[in-house]
Amino acid sequence: MARTLTDPMIKSPDPSERAVAVELTRVSKVYGGAETVRALDEVTFSIREREFLSVLGPSGCGKSTLLRILAGLLPHDGGTSRIYGHTAEGVSVEVGVVFQTDNLLPWLTLERNVRLAAEIAGMESAMIDAKAREMIVMIGLSGFERRYPHELSGGMQQRAAIGQTLMLSPKILLLDEPFGALDALTRDRLNMELLRIIEAQHQTVLLITHSISEAVFLSDRVLVMSPRPGKIIEELVIDLPRPRHPRLTRELPKFGRYEGRLSEIMGVI
Ligand code: ADP
Repeated sequence: MARTLTDPMIKSPDPSERAVAVELTRVSKVYGGAETVRALDEVTFSIREREFLSVLGPSGCGKSTLLRILAGLLPHDGGTSRIYGHTAEGVSVEVGVVFQTDNLLPWLTLERNVRLAAEIAGMESAMIDAKAREMIVMIGLSGFERRYPHELSGGMQQRAAIGQTLMLSPKILLLDEPFGALDALTRDRLNMELLRIIEAQHQTVLLITHSISEAVFLSDRVLVMSPRPGKIIEELVIDLPRPRHPRLTRELPKFGRYEGRLSEIMGVI
């Protein structure tokens, strides 16, 4: 049975004691073309296993570029990018990615979409049947299996996209503004769903977001990037108890202080 947020078994991960899952060292990226664009400038950071790290930064500062490099979808020009100590070259089975939109194929039902990544990966069909059933329950979409993406709300589509990615049990989840296109209430609800799912699956998460409140609410640590070329200019450890609660967590004085600090930095860059 899926654990709930009130389950006392769920412990806050202690990032300092865990292995390094992701490690970027002085990673730079220049886009070529008629005009060269320096997108990233010697970005260095690491993420420990089961840590939830968010990256905040102004539009165009290179956040998506960073995520695509980590996902193995884009080469970088300098520095090293490692996943569990191995140089990240090409797409890794350890890494799953969810983008802001367009994750689902419109001509496939929800169930077929959820199964898709596992089918492409060649997972045995009996295993896919069992995992897909379990995943659809986990993402709260039982009863919608035969619906097509256009028959689902934006929030349901993003839940399906997360489910599709989690079918391969990636150890590391890269999320590129997955809730950016949703209204505030749906976003809050999906933040809670996301925490429940990743607590149950023990994922390490990198979230790209432009929402300060979302970053503080979800994360163990938040990095802030400068305008292009993106560099890490601030690191804030979010020392708030877990499990987090949509209202009680936000009422904690520390929550407001973290938001204030990040707003201050974001306001001046
Ligand atoms: P963010 O996700 O922070 O909005 P991006 O990583 O998408 O930023 O982009 C960083 C910079 O690189 C922007 O100036 C953008 O215009 C540029 N850029 C992104 N992709 C390409 C590309 N394929 N070719 C040229 N420039 C690009």
